[in-house]
Amino acid sequence: MFLRRVALPLIGRLQGMPVSPTLRALEQSQWWSLERLRALQLDRLRRLADHAYAQVPLYRRLWDAHGVQPQDIRCLDDLARLPLLDKATLRAAYPDSALAANVDRSQLVRYASSGSTGEPLQFVMTRAEKGQRWAVMFRSWAMAGVYQGMRAANVKDGHALGVFRSGPLQRLEQQATRMLNLSAYAVHDHRLDQVVSDLVGFRPEVMFAYPGTAYHLAVALTERRVELPLHAVITSGEMLHPFQRQAIEHQFHCPVHDYYGGEGMDVAMQCGVGSTYHINAESVIVEVVGADGQPVPTGQEGSIVLTNLHAYAMPFIRYVVGDVGALAAGQCACGRGLPLLDHVAGRSSDQLTLPSGRSLIMWYFTDVFRQMPGVESFQMRQVAPDRIVVLVAPGPAFGYLPANEGQRATGGPHDLGAFVGLDAALQFLRQRLEEQVRGEAALDIALVESIPLGPGGKHRFFVDERKETGFFPKNPVSGGAFP
Ligand SMILES: [Zn+2]
Repeated sequence: MFLRRVALPLIGRLQGMPVSPTLRALEQSQWWSLERLRALQLDRLRRLADHAYAQVPLYRRLWDAHGVQPQDIRCLDDLARLPLLDKATLRAAYPDSALAANVDRSQLVRYASSGSTGEPLQFVMTRAEKGQRWAVMFRSWAMAGVYQGMRAANVKDGHALGVFRSGPLQRLEQQATRMLNLSAYAVHDHRLDQVVSDLVGFRPEVMFAYPGTAYHLAVALTERRVELPLHAVITSGEMLHPFQRQAIEHQFHCPVHDYYGGEGMDVAMQCGVGSTYHINAESVIVEVVGADGQPVPTGQEGSIVLTNLHAYAMPFIRYVVGDVGALAAGQCACGRGLPLLDHVAGRSSDQLTLPSGRSLIMWYFTDVFRQMPGVESFQMRQVAPDRIVVLVAPGPAFGYLPANEGQRATGGPHDLGAFVGLDAALQFLRQRLEEQVRGEAALDIALVESIPLGPGGKHRFFVDERKETGFFPKNPVSGGAFP
């Protein structure tokens, strides 16, 4: 609490960002009724739309071409009258047409999203907007019982590394900030033993990591019989699969709270009471639209569309972020009034389309691999419409069938059934995958030592080789999510 009352305002003052008053307001408003939150959203949306139309050439051009104006927004449903904005259009408009004419450019903080394929998206926000973003982030952490000042291990991509990379100064920095920054890449290569020893030595209370990274660490600690109980694990940055959650919670003896965000927006967080995500409604509007661009009924899956109510320097209005998900009706049992996101099913680019036109989202396959013991990681690579290469990185337990086959395993990552050997295990895996593909494509299964990580140190379950544009750009520098 000391850190919360003293350190947080201090950080805010040093950075010129008023975090604390916004955080206090957010801690109140999360308990408001949905109706009251919706009224706040409408108010903020109308102000934002007026601003975007008057100051941002991109929106004036798009909305004029579409025959809509800010005054057409009379209720929240009217948001759907505005055109959708895709990444390519926004990237082409950046910076001159995407930035507000009246923004003081000397006050801007630059960001780049790592993007799961191709070019990263560059974007900016003012220091004040960054402060608001932090406040939203801190409120989300608080839902998981995590506060500024707790000892935290942050296992993400390179940007989150501290100022000092090694030696006594690095240790001093870690002690002062109570934050151990580790590279997600190191978890997946020869530095894993060092990562494990650093983690254990630091004694974190909470860990922030990509789901794939946290899962890999959970498996590594289980194998080494190392106990590291935590208060919470907060995952973000890629899809959290049920098998990963199960293994992470089992190893670290704590709940996993998944956090969803994108392009500078802190969108939603799991409070842990239900499985749904609380949308940060004061700062973002989440819509889910179908293939026709129209909002789909609550509960139905579609493309996630985000509107950032706090971004005035570079507005994001009806931005198609590239994820598939669904909204949920009703209220969480925790009592918060914030609207709910039911789930995120992955990147919309994370789906395999078969020659018949049938699409399979990676969710189907992760479930197959989850039930298979000894699979450390996998990747499906579509090399032709009717040909899929499946890379499997086997661990020591590969060769066993799943225990309680067909049921959900409950004993963590090593719930083993009968030992059948490598060939029979591969055959079992093949059968399971073919049940999904149903003869529409040939499956080549290859055992590999490890699977290279994608941009930003994230694991990719699916790669469409036909859409790959060669080597990825070097990991962009993003304005770290952590103070
Ligand atoms: Zn809740």
